[in-house]
Amino acid sequence: MLCRPAMKTHLIALAALIAASPALADTIIDNFNGYQADDEGRIRTFNGLLIGDDGKVKIVLTPGASRPGPVARTIDMGGRTLLPGLIDAHGHVMGLGFAALQLDLTGTASLGELQQRLKDYAAANPDARWIVGRGWNQESWPVKNFPTAADLDAVVADRPVVLTRVDGHALVANSAAMRAAGVSASTPAPSGGRIENGLFIDNAMGLVRTKIPAATPAEADAALAKAQEILLGHGLTAVADMGTSADGWGAMTRAGDAGRLNVRIMSYASALPALEELGRTAPTEWLYGDRLRMGGVKLYADGALGSRGAWLKRPYADQPDTVGLRFLSDAELREQAGKAAAMGFQVATHAIGDAANAQVIAAYEALGKTHPGDRRWRIEHVQVVDPADIPRIAKAGIIASMQPTHQTSDWLMAEKRLDPPRLEGAYAWHTIAQSGARLAFGSDFPVESPNPFPGLAAAISRQDMSGQPPGGWRPEERVTLAQALHGFGRGAAFAGFAEDRIGSLDAGKWADFIIVDRDPTKVDAQALARTQVLETWVAGKKVYEKAASGAGGERGK
Ligand SMILES: [Zn+2]
Repeated sequence: MLCRPAMKTHLIALAALIAASPALADTIIDNFNGYQADDEGRIRTFNGLLIGDDGKVKIVLTPGASRPGPVARTIDMGGRTLLPGLIDAHGHVMGLGFAALQLDLTGTASLGELQQRLKDYAAANPDARWIVGRGWNQESWPVKNFPTAADLDAVVADRPVVLTRVDGHALVANSAAMRAAGVSASTPAPSGGRIENGLFIDNAMGLVRTKIPAATPAEADAALAKAQEILLGHGLTAVADMGTSADGWGAMTRAGDAGRLNVRIMSYASALPALEELGRTAPTEWLYGDRLRMGGVKLYADGALGSRGAWLKRPYADQPDTVGLRFLSDAELREQAGKAAAMGFQVATHAIGDAANAQVIAAYEALGKTHPGDRRWRIEHVQVVDPADIPRIAKAGIIASMQPTHQTSDWLMAEKRLDPPRLEGAYAWHTIAQSGARLAFGSDFPVESPNPFPGLAAAISRQDMSGQPPGGWRPEERVTLAQALHGFGRGAAFAGFAEDRIGSLDAGKWADFIIVDRDPTKVDAQALARTQVLETWVAGKKVYEKAASGAGGERGK
C-alpha cells in the first residue's frame, strides 16, 4: 500500500508515540546507577528503564526525568549499579560446559587427594560411561611420582578413567581405559610419545583420547545447561560461539525448542564441514526470540604462540629454525572464505602470528572486491600484527576480535617468542583502535575464564588480577573504560550483526542487563577485576541471582 508522504510521516510519528508510551503491562526498573558506553567513546548514565511486556526497552530514563505510568510494576534496584548485559565476542560454549562437568583435579595436594576426588566423582556420576578429568600436577605433591594405572584402578576399576595433567602434555589412564583403547604393556609408543604404567605422554595420548566416546545428546544438553549457568553468573547475556559443531548446534536448538536458552548465542559454524553436516547453505534467521542465530563460519589460518604454532613472518626469537605453522595456502583461504561469503555467511578467521594476520587481511582485501556490501570480515585474536599491516585492518573494514586476558596470561611467553620490534604489534588494542578499526572483546573461554571483569580490567590496565606487572605490560596499549565496555558490549554486538538487538540499552533493544556489586567508574582495575554479578536479566526477566551466602557461581580464576 502506498501512502502520501505527509501521511507516512504522521504514521511514523504515531507509531513512535505508541512505542514510547507506557502500557499497563509495562515494568519500570528504577533507582539504580546505570552506565553504558556509546559509539563516541563516552560513558552515558541513566537511572531507570521502561520495559514492555515483550522484554524490550521502551524508554531509557535519566535522572530527573518523570516516570511514565501507570505500569504493571516498578522494581526498585536500591541504588545499585546496572550495566547492559555483557557480550563475549569469542568463546566456545559447549567446550565450557563439558570442561565444567569433567572431574576437576586442579590444586590436588597429593596422590591421595586425587584418588579421593576421583572416588567422589565416580559416586556422584554413576551414569558417566567414561570418567574424564584434568588438572593434576605431581610436582606439587609431597611424593612427586607420576600417578599410574594401578593408582586409579585402586579407586575406580569398573569403567574407563582418563585424567589429563595440568599442562595437557600427559594423561594417566586406568586399566579399563587401556583395555577399551586396545593398549597393552607391549604396545609401542608412537614417535614423539611415551607410555609408562598407564601414563601416556605427548603423542601417545592420542591412543587413549581418540577412544573416548563422543558425548550423547543428553550429555551435550547437560553441558549446554552448565555453560549457560556459568555465563549468566558472570553477567554474560550473549556470546559468539566460535566454531559450532553439528552436535553443538543440535544441543542449542533442543534448548531453544524447550525454552531453556537464556544466553543469546551468535553461532559461527566450525568451518565448512560443519555447514555440510548441518546441510546449511545460508545463515539462519534469529531464532527463539533472538537467542540463537548461525550467521557465520569460523576458519583457521595458524596455531597458537605458546606451542610455536603461530605463523610468523620471521623465525621465532627463541627457536630460530621455525616460523610456526601455516594452515592454508593463500588460494585455499580465499576459496574457503569466498565459499562461505557466497552463501551469505560472515567469515571469522583465527590468526595469531603476523604472517597469518597478513595472509587473512590480504584475503579479506581481495574478497571485499568480489563480495561487496556489509560483510564485517572478522579476524579472531589479531594477536601479533606487523605494525606495517595495522592500517590495512580498518581500510578493509575488518573487525578485530581480541581477548584482553590473553595478554595478561601470555606476556612473559610472548617476550620469549618475539623480539622487541614484533612486540610493537602484539596485543595492540589501542593502536588498532586508533587506526580506525572496530574492536570486539571476548575471552576465548574455556581457554581463559569467561568472567568478563578480569578482561575489562586487563583492557584498561594491561595487568592481571594480582596487578602484575606493575604499571602494566606495554601500557601504551591500554584502552579507556568506555572502550573496554564498548568492546564487551556494542562492539561485540556489531561484530555479530546484532547491534540492532543487543549490546546496549536503547529503545527497541532487548532489556538484557546486570546488577553488579560496585561502580566500575569509581574503582581501580584490581577492584574492577573482582566485580561480582548480583543479578542477570535477559529480555526483562531475572535469570540469575547470586546466592546470598556470597559463594556465587565462580570457582577458580
Ligand atoms: Zn577460540
